[in-house]
Amino acid sequence: MANPLYDTLFGRHAGQSAPFLHLADGSAVSYDAFLRLTARFAHALRNADLAPGDRLAAQVEKSPQALAVYAACVQAGIVFLPLNTGYTADELAYFVTDSGARLLLCDSRRADALKVVADQAGARLMTLDADGTGTLPEAAKGQPETFETTPRGANDLAAFLYTSGTTGRSKGAMLTQTNLLSNAEVLVDCWRFTAKDVLLHALPIFHTHGLFVATNIILLAGGSMIFLPKFDLDQMIDNLPRATSMMGVPTFYTRLLDDPRFTRDLVAHMRLFVSGSAPLLAETHVAFEERTGHRILERYGMTETNMNTSNPYDGARRAGTVGFPLPGVELKITDPQTGAELPQGEIGLIEVRGPNVFKGYWNMPEKTAEELRENGFFITGDLGMIDDQGYVQIVGRNKDLIISGGYNIYPKEIELLLDEQPGVLESAVVGVPHPDFGETVVGFLVAQRGATLDLDAIAGTVAQSLARFKHPRRLIVLDELPRNTMGKVQKNILRADYAGLFT
Ligand code: ATP
Ligand code: MG
Repeated sequence: MANPLYDTLFGRHAGQSAPFLHLADGSAVSYDAFLRLTARFAHALRNADLAPGDRLAAQVEKSPQALAVYAACVQAGIVFLPLNTGYTADELAYFVTDSGARLLLCDSRRADALKVVADQAGARLMTLDADGTGTLPEAAKGQPETFETTPRGANDLAAFLYTSGTTGRSKGAMLTQTNLLSNAEVLVDCWRFTAKDVLLHALPIFHTHGLFVATNIILLAGGSMIFLPKFDLDQMIDNLPRATSMMGVPTFYTRLLDDPRFTRDLVAHMRLFVSGSAPLLAETHVAFEERTGHRILERYGMTETNMNTSNPYDGARRAGTVGFPLPGVELKITDPQTGAELPQGEIGLIEVRGPNVFKGYWNMPEKTAEELRENGFFITGDLGMIDDQGYVQIVGRNKDLIISGGYNIYPKEIELLLDEQPGVLESAVVGVPHPDFGETVVGFLVAQRGATLDLDAIAGTVAQSLARFKHPRRLIVLDELPRNTMGKVQKNILRADYAGLFT
């Protein structure tokens, strides 16, 4: 095949009048209309001097046109680099410069601020707004509705996706055509997607979850998506009756459960609910099943690898686990110090190998060499273990492991306990420097609205439940936990802010 990713996901739908996107206003975009738009965009990008292998950085609102930019890049062999819409101009400067992007596509409201960024990086600036207008669509007007697909090989780059920046500066993961295609093929199969599927899509499309997992699966299966600009409870409730399946981050599920309109009847017809990107609390899993009769299917993945593991479609979907390695993905647990494989049941670093694993970090050869072994295994940085039934359980990130007086302490164990205490909404446990112990445990708590926390009582309960070396030496109440734009808790900020607590 000339361009496997384009041909398999997009090209074979040419001329099809079947719907691809159902929009919030009730209208639909057919596969045929989408591909004609894609071709016009591909011409406009070529006319803007983008050659195969060049990078296009896009910070744009979610829209059918934004998705067509992704498709046009694939068709023209341009490396697509989507960026979080929450990033500021300063943050964007890093991504545009680091990636060597040739074109920066942004919302016209930000064009003035970002012109400077583009100029400094030597990139051209074009605009695309949420309503589908802008200088790119303008340049695409009147262009031919077919485009001769640029030949690409299986190992050519399809996308640069920057990691979420939870543990430090975001890294540009280089993803090949095979990385994306192999994962989509496996997931369609495992999760039984077909042309009959209508996926409720409220995720952002600048992240692997909404872009590659959700969108590529639907394209490959030939189904359609209810394409909502963002998660809005009213819109979700209105659209669930039309959907067969939904993918979400854990907060989608907790927010749905908080709404009395979210009933068993509303979703009785649904085929599948998938969760990922952050841990789904076992409590949410149970509450969801009690309310709806459905068991959420939790899976585990990351920017660098797409999806690695999934709970089974048939068979037990177990709360608190991320299921089994996907077909074609090898997964092992290794000793963080020696790299040796650990026996089942022991906690260590999760390493994965397979066609889904990225080519390396852009511009970061040392980091790539540290995390991607020569034998092809990628050291994910997550700690986990394989339980007695073969399910993978995530314990937390290696960077968040606390070593106090020579003992390993896993923050998650303490957080789960703190979360159960009266009045506690959520918690985060980190290690800070300590003169005697090297590091010691500090617990950060956020109170439920209107609640006042009794820290002595909480400390007392913790003391009864956990070994002494795990007791938080200090409990600190915060208004909220620091989070990045993907909603992930940034423990590095807590560690830095409280580094001087005991020294
Ligand atoms: P950075 O690498 O820049 O610090 P990040 O790791 O948060 O940021 P992503 O690639 O978006 O960037 O997130 C992948 C991480 O999300 C995984 O390594 C894992 O820690 C977490 N994750 C994903 N799915 C799950 C899940 N089902 N349960 C627990 N954690 C998950
Ligand atoms: Mg990461």
